[in-house]
Parts: sequence; structure tokens; C-alpha cells
Amino acid sequence: MPDQVRGAELVSSLGALRNRIAAACVAAGRETSEITLVAVTKTYPAADVLTLAGLGVLDVGENRDQEARAKAAEVAEQLPEGLAAPRWHFVGQLQRKKARSVASYAHAVHSVDRSELVDALAAAVEQSGRPALEVFVQVSLDGDPSRGGVVAADLPQLGELVSARTSLRLRGLMAVAPLGIGPDDAFAELARIDADFRARFRQADALSAGMSQDLDAAIRHGATHLRVGTALLGRRTPAFG
Ligand SMILES: *Cc1c(COP(=O)(O)O)cnc(C)c1O
Repeated sequence: MPDQVRGAELVSSLGALRNRIAAACVAAGRETSEITLVAVTKTYPAADVLTLAGLGVLDVGENRDQEARAKAAEVAEQLPEGLAAPRWHFVGQLQRKKARSVASYAHAVHSVDRSELVDALAAAVEQSGRPALEVFVQVSLDGDPSRGGVVAADLPQLGELVSARTSLRLRGLMAVAPLGIGPDDAFAELARIDADFRARFRQADALSAGMSQDLDAAIRHGATHLRVGTALLGRRTPAFG
């Protein structure tokens, strides 16, 4: 696809998405300034990340280390002078052996759900000398750990582990609405869990929830970080989604 055509497509989908977010904020009595849009660029090229950066979208999300690492390097190399560098958010399930790599380019990890991951990420950041890595602890809303996340009862312990590491900065919780449960029910439950979590961890000021399908419901229930792929970049090829 020629650059201009793709550029126009992204301008248009970003405009529609920003309107949708603004409408959901108005309906929920919230300010759009409370919301961070994380553009999930998985399967899409570095060129799209650069286009989005030029449009002011500086938070990008990826779910696979190999792809993210290469894309981050390409973007850094091609970033025009004067354009702010995007911040990389890792949103996918993360293996411990990839922690060092992810910590070398990521600004935030949204999928921390095990103590061994906390230790590995903290050690990697300490060794690299990079600024503190932002951490979202992923909570499972249906108790099915196959899609990642811990059950709510395990959150205090994991939150304490993250808080104890100076190389990590606890931002809050992350969740994916389970299949088969309405997003409003799922995110209402998340909001209850989040209230408990924030009462315990005063530094937690963020909530990562909401994707293309359900971001309006997420905004109603207090999300601050929306992770949006399809609604912004288009449908992914199923085999790579
Ligand atoms: C792919 C992905 C998203 C974005 O999903 P869309 O439905 O395309 O908006 C959000 N969060 C995570 C964890 C993802 O893997």
C-alpha cells in the first residue's frame, strides 16, 4: 500500500477513535486527559508506528518480544529529528527468559503475573541502568490462567514484590475481559478489585483495560490505559493475530 494511502487511513481511524474515546469520557463524566491510548501495533510495520508518532500517538503496544524488539530498533533508527520517541508497552504473555530483552526497550510491561517475572525484570533493569520500568499486574477475571493473570487473592503479594523493587514502578492493574462475560460485568468486577488494590498500594494510579471491542465499557469503569489494535490499525491477518 502506498504511504499516502496508509497515512490517510490512519489519520481517519485515529480521528474516529479519538471521537469514540471522547464520547465515552463525556458519558462517564471523565476527562480525556485521564486516558492514555496505547496503539497495539503487533503485525503492523515500523512505518505505521512512525506515522502514528507523527500524529501524536507516542504509546505503542506489542505482544511478542522478537517482533517488538526488531520494530523498536527500526523505529529508533528511522525516527525523524525533532519527533519524540515512542514508548513501548509490552502487553502479551511474557516468558521469564525474554525478560532481559523486553527490559532493554520497554517503558512498561502490562502482563506481570508471576513473582519470577518480577525478579527477572527488576534484575534486567538494574543491570541495564535504564529508568524504572512501569509495571501493571495482570489480574484474571475468570480464574482461567491460560490467558495470563493472577486471581485477585494473589494481587497483594505480587503488588508487594513489585513495590519492593526500586527498578520497577507499580502503575496498577491490567485485565482482559473474559470471553462469554459482558464487558460491563467484567469491568465492574475489575473496578471493585482495583479499588482494593489502590487502597493498599497508594502509588498505583493507572488501570489498563479496554480493547477495540470494549473500550467504551472500560472507560465507564475507570480505565486509564486503553490497548487498541484493530480499531486503529485495521484487522490483523488471523494467523498472526
Ligand atoms: C492484541 C491485543 C490488544 C488489542 O486488541 P484489539 O482487539 O485489536 O484492539 C489488547 N491487549 C492485548 C493484551 C492484546 O494482545
